[in-house]
Amino acid sequence: TAAMHRAKAVPGTSLQFPPEGFERGSGQVLDAEQGLRAGVSKDEFVLFYQPKVDAANGALLGFEALVRWDRPGLGRIAPSDFIPAAERTGLIGPLGRLILAQACQQIARWRAEHGEAFPVAVNVSPLQLIDTQFPQLVADTLAQHRVPPALLTLEITESAAVTHLEQARDQIRQMRELGVRVALDDFGTGFSSLNLLRSLPVSTVKIDRSLIEPLPAPDAAAVIKAICQLAAVLQLDVVAEGVETDAQAQAARHAGCQVLQGALYAPPLTVDDAGAWLARA
Ligand code: C2E
Ligand code: MG
Ligand code: MG
Ligand code: MG
Repeated sequence: TAAMHRAKAVPGTSLQFPPEGFERGSGQVLDAEQGLRAGVSKDEFVLFYQPKVDAANGALLGFEALVRWDRPGLGRIAPSDFIPAAERTGLIGPLGRLILAQACQQIARWRAEHGEAFPVAVNVSPLQLIDTQFPQLVADTLAQHRVPPALLTLEITESAAVTHLEQARDQIRQMRELGVRVALDDFGTGFSSLNLLRSLPVSTVKIDRSLIEPLPAPDAAAVIKAICQLAAVLQLDVVAEGVETDAQAQAARHAGCQVLQGALYAPPLTVDDAGAWLARA
């Protein structure tokens, strides 16, 4: 079928040839795009939900939605294996809309079923973040599912915010004005700038797993503590991601992280398993 697909690779198609994909042959790139396009039109994407817990007492505080692609005949595909292709081909736009809608629908369902409301964080690609229509999409999707904006957090990566600083700042401000929370994800990787924290109107800092992993080593703990102290001055919440051991959890809590997420508590769960957590909370 690669040959068939390659025959369609003519100028004027919507295909964008990325250098790294192109090296492996345009047929493969086109396969990836056509597969993704079909997956988006058939909505083959499912959200898993990873609990976030209160560092003080382990109580459930909400979830992070993490997308997987259930591709018929090919099994379940991790986001690192299709989000980059979706970004290269522009399919991240429609895919991001599906993800946002699915998350908002789920927030509304849980709210109806459990009385108590549990917030959900959705990851946003840099390309979505700088799309000037994105704040309106968020407002419309919340309204459509009757979700209070405070129940939605958007996780944006630090690198995205750095690369498109002016645009990111303006779009984040618009989303905060809607009442949506915004977290700076993977903080501490890449161009980690403490000034960035001050200059972006985010509500939360999410410390990357790579900084949590070496805990409880004292030097690593000192770095987390410094981030938490700065966050406190700026009135930002701090979430630690990728907490896998009790020792890491203790150290992160002592350093000042209020919210913990990671395999120690739960992996990303199916919607039914996440619902069971809610029922117990
Ligand atoms: P992220 O937002 O930093 O998500 C955290 C990743 O770490 C998730 O991988 C999660 O399953 C994993 N993780 C959580 N706890 C632990 C732990 O204790 N140990 C270890 N080793 N890993 C842990 P996942 O689900 O494969 O997602 C990877 C990345 O893909 C995410 O990083 C995010 O950048 C992106 N992504 C996921 N879902 C979406 C989405 O809906 N839209 C967009 N644009 N990107 C997404
Ligand atoms: Mg995230
Ligand atoms: Mg993260
Ligand atoms: Mg990460």
